[in-house]
Amino acid sequence: MRDPRYDILFEPVKIGPVTAHNRFYQVPHCNGMGHAYPKAEAAMRGMKAQGGWAVVSTQEVEIHPGSEWSPYIEGRLWDEGDMKRLRMTADAIHEHGALAAIEITHNGHASANHYSRLPAMGVSEMMIDSYHPAQAYAMSKRDIADVRRWHRKAALRSKQMGFDIVYVYAAHDLALPFHFISPQRNQRTDEYGGSLENRVRFLRELLEDTKDAVGDTCGIALRFTVDQLIGARGMVAENEGREVVEMLAEHPDIWDVNISDWSNDSATSRFAEQGFQEKYTAFVNKLTTKPVVGVGRFTSPDAMVSQIKRGILDMIGAARPSIADPFLPSKIESGQVEDIRECIGCNICVSGDMIIAPIRCTQNPTMGEEFRRGWHPEKIEKGASSDAILIVGAGPSGLESAMSLGRRGYNVTVAEANDHAGGRVHCESQLPGLSAWRRVVDYRLGQIDKLDNVQVFLHSEINKQQVLEFAKQLNIQHVVVATGSKWDRDGIGRVHRQPIPRDKSVHILTPDDVMAGKQISGHVVVYDDDHYYMGGVIAECLVNAGAKVTLVTPAADVSAWTHNTLEQIHIEKRLGDLGIAIVEKHQVQRVNSNQIILEHIVSAKNQTINAQYLVLVTARRPLSSLYFDLDNDAESLDHAGIKSVTRIGDCLAPSTIAAAVYHGHRFAREFDCDVDADAVPFKREYVEI
Ligand code: ADP
Ligand code: SF4
Repeated sequence: MRDPRYDILFEPVKIGPVTAHNRFYQVPHCNGMGHAYPKAEAAMRGMKAQGGWAVVSTQEVEIHPGSEWSPYIEGRLWDEGDMKRLRMTADAIHEHGALAAIEITHNGHASANHYSRLPAMGVSEMMIDSYHPAQAYAMSKRDIADVRRWHRKAALRSKQMGFDIVYVYAAHDLALPFHFISPQRNQRTDEYGGSLENRVRFLRELLEDTKDAVGDTCGIALRFTVDQLIGARGMVAENEGREVVEMLAEHPDIWDVNISDWSNDSATSRFAEQGFQEKYTAFVNKLTTKPVVGVGRFTSPDAMVSQIKRGILDMIGAARPSIADPFLPSKIESGQVEDIRECIGCNICVSGDMIIAPIRCTQNPTMGEEFRRGWHPEKIEKGASSDAILIVGAGPSGLESAMSLGRRGYNVTVAEANDHAGGRVHCESQLPGLSAWRRVVDYRLGQIDKLDNVQVFLHSEINKQQVLEFAKQLNIQHVVVATGSKWDRDGIGRVHRQPIPRDKSVHILTPDDVMAGKQISGHVVVYDDDHYYMGGVIAECLVNAGAKVTLVTPAADVSAWTHNTLEQIHIEKRLGDLGIAIVEKHQVQRVNSNQIILEHIVSAKNQTINAQYLVLVTARRPLSSLYFDLDNDAESLDHAGIKSVTRIGDCLAPSTIAAAVYHGHRFAREFDCDVDADAVPFKREYVEI
């Protein structure tokens, strides 16, 4: 049972008129579901409540069509017609005894209103934040009164739907009340501009309106950014951040404090440690008698206890740790700390919202699948037969399917060629800043260790003949090929569909060579047509080893896809700080006489770089020969008693670690089930007609 050291985490906390049954608080976070997938939203939030979070929040909920986030999908409470959808979320949270919190929001000039086509309004006249040819108009007093009324109506509707905590959102530089406070944004000369007292007026009014409207039964939460990490150009914790907290100290029933922008608030493990916000937010608790919640990618109960005991936070806020493990609180409560699926801080969850698709998670393959596939993160159906399975390869897909098939009760044998499990994660987690990714392997090996019916054999590279022999010897009926992929050595990728022309004057390498510890010195060109983290990380690794590095990419931005994980600017800054030269919008045209000839992707103008090495971060090639050797020999399979051969993960289609884990999990869930290849494999949500 629970370790008494963690008792403090299970004390109730009073939030105005309501009480949270413990200190675990899922702060508002987007999930790409919102108003478009209300059943999915409800099921996903309900799962967190079931897992022991005492407060579970929605994401941002728009209160008026004049401030909407399309095409991004957030919550929507424009009128009564939206209540039916949101009520499902409140009900799902209540079903498990948690408090339901709603983050009603007006985004001011941050939203472009693509769907409603209403002009955006802001504290002052200014361009909207995204590169969209539109400006916001400065709000008149009538506009201010309108927003206050809409916010009040949304609060009343929230109460009617049963929400227990209603937010006033003034964070991330994404919310109108925050824009009012910001001297950069606020150019007003009336009683809402000028002094801090004036700039805080609108936030104070919203807090008082909300308290007045619903404060009798609902707790009022204020989400506030104390520091924007841009120095004097923005909010600074030691200056106005502190003064705002002093001014409004007793106004909300709970302070939910953070840093911004979103890329700082949700910093990845590559750039920030657990508890990274403490140095900015710690002062808040000293200035108020009200409880304070804050985040910091907390997965360690000891770190959580320390936050509470040292008086930094009263409630442990989490978005990502609750995504990676919705049952984190109940695992601590039941003494199963070693079973926590710890967030690795990769922000694949954020990428769902950014690409306008439902959330996904590297560590938790059931995330986002609670409604449409009916997946539960802690439960899986028992197997339908006593068939045994051989999995070849112990990378993320092999390990996930071994663990999940084992939980279903099947006998599973894993054969891994290397002297270690983990596949690509084992290698990649040794690259600069990626050590937390190791958790993908550690969690699965730890769980497999508890299953008597799953055996992992290292040093066991096997070929077709050996698979057939094992199948007979061990009475195995199914073979899963999870042998992964390797990086392409010819530069084939998005730009080059054919090998890059080259002579032998420059050494050609791939990330596999660098990860294998190949010694490299002199000038290295890293050519990145992959666009995720690998090009940047390899460049960083090479500089750390003493090389001079130039990173070339056909994209306009280095590591372009990492905009979706909120890392791009952090990566670009780090590469710059390390002295790595970045050449954007160029492809490698050819390699000739110790020179790498680059071509601008638009103008076709050339430039040359003298270098000793070219590292190609381009396509990956599935290692699928074992699969085809087996699949093409039906007679031998039959003879060995093998009923099926399936390839999963990167061996089928190289992608993210999250995709490999998901595929491994899906295979395990669907194994022995009648899956109709012609049918849509999940439930959909349609607009009623
Ligand atoms: P994924 O991301 O799909 O899980 P990885 O590349 O991470 O793929 O892992 C594949 C694993 O398969 C690696 O650990 C590799 O050593 C192992 N492997 C590849 N071929 C064989 C083989 N023939 N026999 C046993 N293990 C293999
Ligand atoms: Fe954590 Fe990555 Fe999962 Fe997000 S996707 S919750 S960062 S493990």
